[in-house]
Amino acid sequence: MKPNLRSGYITFYKKDNKKIKISYISILFLIIAMLMLIPILENTISSFIDYSNINTTIQGSDIEINIQSSGVKAEFVENEEEKDEEENNVVDDGQKYVALTFDDGPGRYTKELVDLLVKNNVKASFFMIGENIQNYKNSVKYAYDNGMEICNHTQSHKNLKNLSKEDVKNEINSVDDILQKIIGQKSKYYRSPGGNQNECVLSAIDKPCILWNVDTRDWESRDTEKIIKKTLNDVDDGDIILMHEIYKTTIDAVQPIIDELKKRGYNIVTVTELYNKKGIPLENGKVYYGL
Ligand SMILES: [Zn+2]
Repeated sequence: MKPNLRSGYITFYKKDNKKIKISYISILFLIIAMLMLIPILENTISSFIDYSNINTTIQGSDIEINIQSSGVKAEFVENEEEKDEEENNVVDDGQKYVALTFDDGPGRYTKELVDLLVKNNVKASFFMIGENIQNYKNSVKYAYDNGMEICNHTQSHKNLKNLSKEDVKNEINSVDDILQKIIGQKSKYYRSPGGNQNECVLSAIDKPCILWNVDTRDWESRDTEKIIKKTLNDVDDGDIILMHEIYKTTIDAVQPIIDELKKRGYNIVTVTELYNKKGIPLENGKVYYGL
């Protein structure tokens, strides 16, 4: 190949020594034509391949690469499982949990009951009445210091549905004020006496209302055997068991109930732990009956 600059030709020699002349101008046209063809070819290939759904995740990393017709995009994505864990904070561990709750104290059996629970390595929630707290301040402190959860069961155990909004607030706040003095903190939850509440009551109190779904009827039967039987018949995973700590017959039922619950594989916990373990947040103004 020999370019002939003066004549404007590139000269090729074939095997038989014959010349082929190609002008500069025609080479220029050829290059321009090829450049124009490139985008047309690209579009033709794109129409045969759908790139839009091609994406790949690099194993063990949080980077996702998407190949699209507009180009290749790499972005940081959060693993779905990790996101769920973060939102709930706790993942259901497949274990069974049940909350023991004791109402209407404190009273003459409170310390004995706390000792019994501690001996069994069990924590429970106590819904206490303000008027009784005045008479058993040491028992409240004793229960709290031993890891029990102290909750609000109103100042005077009245039916809250019959009270004005202001009186409902007073029933709760009086208990919180005295708890603040004895244990240095207010209650997180309340339980309306008799489970009586309505929209007015719920809107008056800035706490979750904790009721129950296993009623031992201990106040009615006052019979240890019946209390044990009723509890163990009705109990299921995620339940809240209602008992009253002011009856000797109830206190006597606690050890056999704990023994059997443990035998059946239940973890016996406070209300807070129960909902924590199940990953359910408790909201103010709502009623909870167990799971
Ligand atoms: Zn009560």
